[in-house]
Amino acid sequence: MIRWIAALCVCFATVVVADDRPNVVVILADDLGYADLSCQGSKQAKTPNIDTIATNGIRFTDGYVSCPVCSPSRAGLLTGRYQQRFGLEFNPRPEAEHFGLPVDQVTIADVMKKAGYATGMIGKWHEGNEPQFHPNRRGFDEYYGFLGGHHPYIDFKNIVRNETPVDDSGYLTDAFGREAVAFVDRHKSQPFFLYLAFNAVHTPLQATQKYLDRVPDIRAPKRQKMLAMLSAMDDAVGELLKKLDDEKLTEKTLVIFLSDNGGETPSNASRNEPLSGIKGELLEGGIREPFMVQWKSHIKPGQVSSVPIISLDIFPTVAAVAGAAVPENIDGKNLKPLLTGESNAQVHDALYWRYGTQSAIRVGDWKLENFKLTGRRLYNLKDDLAENHDLSAADPDRVQQMQAMYDQWNSQNRPPKWAGKEKEDAGEH
Ligand code: CA
Repeated sequence: MIRWIAALCVCFATVVVADDRPNVVVILADDLGYADLSCQGSKQAKTPNIDTIATNGIRFTDGYVSCPVCSPSRAGLLTGRYQQRFGLEFNPRPEAEHFGLPVDQVTIADVMKKAGYATGMIGKWHEGNEPQFHPNRRGFDEYYGFLGGHHPYIDFKNIVRNETPVDDSGYLTDAFGREAVAFVDRHKSQPFFLYLAFNAVHTPLQATQKYLDRVPDIRAPKRQKMLAMLSAMDDAVGELLKKLDDEKLTEKTLVIFLSDNGGETPSNASRNEPLSGIKGELLEGGIREPFMVQWKSHIKPGQVSSVPIISLDIFPTVAAVAGAAVPENIDGKNLKPLLTGESNAQVHDALYWRYGTQSAIRVGDWKLENFKLTGRRLYNLKDDLAENHDLSAADPDRVQQMQAMYDQWNSQNRPPKWAGKEKEDAGEH
């Protein structure tokens, strides 16, 4: 009898309990214009797959990132912290030694890995080339992509799988889509976290004939190439979403899509209308992005929200969905109550930006900017989305109040770890 009970106990102890925690996929586009998805109103862009994330879930009209250029923006997303907290204010300059996301910062992948998720990253890293900064050392079990800020798409080289160079060929965006599908296939039986960071539609503008043929009526060469690259990214997203469907994982997978910064119109012919400004600027066109979230079992389809949110919110939201603990020092807020309809309240008292000589704060519909070139300006975004009518002289009390809030926030920031040149940063990276 005792032997029988002992055997039963051993049996129960080895029963594997199914882990039903949701999967999480974060899809990041690069330099995508606010207006350049069909679900954002574009008549030229054909993005049927990306659009389904919005139609199946919630699209945010006022979704922001924390910097108008690549590396600092991605650092904010990965840490849930304003990246000025740890000095990553600018893209790397050639003279920046030991450039990278400081190793004392906890990433979203660290937290998900610790919670028992399979963690993978595919695509553009741009958080340091040195070994200590490698995605495999920042919480990602698996990595496929390139470490720098931009990369050729055709006849690509210098791609690594984890830390080993691989000799792949083809079109880079296709490869990222293929790898995303393969990652899901490898981990479909366990909770996974995938960060799929495209470099599309960042320069160089390179597209294959297959994708160019989809936009035959676009005569401007830059615009045609960008839209073709976008179509390739849409295909890759479509393959990933189809894989989730095929594996019956769609209901239990949270999918987030956004861009790392606004479109850089001069170089990639992207469009940010009706917003003013482009990549590299703290005008809305540099920092307000296409931003949408799908989670079919929890989010009602077809919603559009104007509640201001920011990429920093992804970290605590994803952690909440996974039941994982978050560091106390993060700035992002858990969006789960907003996503699931539990709450429609504002998430942030204020959103803040600092990028070299530019600073900005948004409180409600009001935005106060201070740019070296144009001085201090106050806009009401509800009435003046294009930021054309400066109201600072008419409302000095509000200017003072918002400036005080900004100063308080900024007092907790560190100086940049390396020098940056804002406009050059935007153009080169
Ligand atoms: Ca970018």
